[in-house]
Amino acid sequence: MSEELNPEEEARTILDRMRQGGMWEPMGLGLCYIKTGDKSVSLASQENTPISAQARIRMRMLIENIGWKVDETETKITNVENLDPAERHMKAMQMRQEQAQNWQCDCGTPLSAFALEEGVWNFYGQEEMASPDGETGIVEQWAVVISCPVCDKEIPVEPYDYALLAGDDAMITIKTKTMEYTALDRVEIIKRVDDKVVDSVMILGTFCPMSGELLPPHARGSIVSFRKIEEEE
Ligand SMILES: [Zn+2]
Repeated sequence: MSEELNPEEEARTILDRMRQGGMWEPMGLGLCYIKTGDKSVSLASQENTPISAQARIRMRMLIENIGWKVDETETKITNVENLDPAERHMKAMQMRQEQAQNWQCDCGTPLSAFALEEGVWNFYGQEEMASPDGETGIVEQWAVVISCPVCDKEIPVEPYDYALLAGDDAMITIKTKTMEYTALDRVEIIKRVDDKVVDSVMILGTFCPMSGELLPPHARGSIVSFRKIEEEE
């Protein structure tokens, strides 16, 4: 009697939770799926390895078994034969970034045109999730809410997708509803301490020492400068 999810249940959970246009790369298979509709995905790419070619057939059966459709008409075969792991990683990142440029609001505005740096980090509670080794753990659900400059729609984007869209530099600053934190590097910390301008500097824990709010995991342990966000009328 185990409470582990079977592969079908796991796939269904992942696909249901995904945003339209979101990517799914099952670990170690060299496959990248894009969610294209309520019950449909398209296979964007497959690596030219026997492992990936076999996985493609298995995954197709699995996804169809849970009542989803797989479109393989646009599948690109990526050549990874002569690449070392670092180059493979680079190539995969490039592909994800290109993909992120295609994400759109319902009104057709590309998410990349949003004022991404204005995104507000929001905590959506905890969820129990199964990891690939079958252990279940509690995972915090975070998203960055960005708003459409054209139709004002607010779109929550997962942190990983947000970093793809906005770039790693955008992760240095974290805006919440009440505060804005900017992580300081060593040089900046030394300068502030030498100049004795440390009154707007603090060390973040799980919670903000000042506002008491829960912070996204990547912010914890950072030394930051901060400012309070004025309440808008
Ligand atoms: Zn819009």
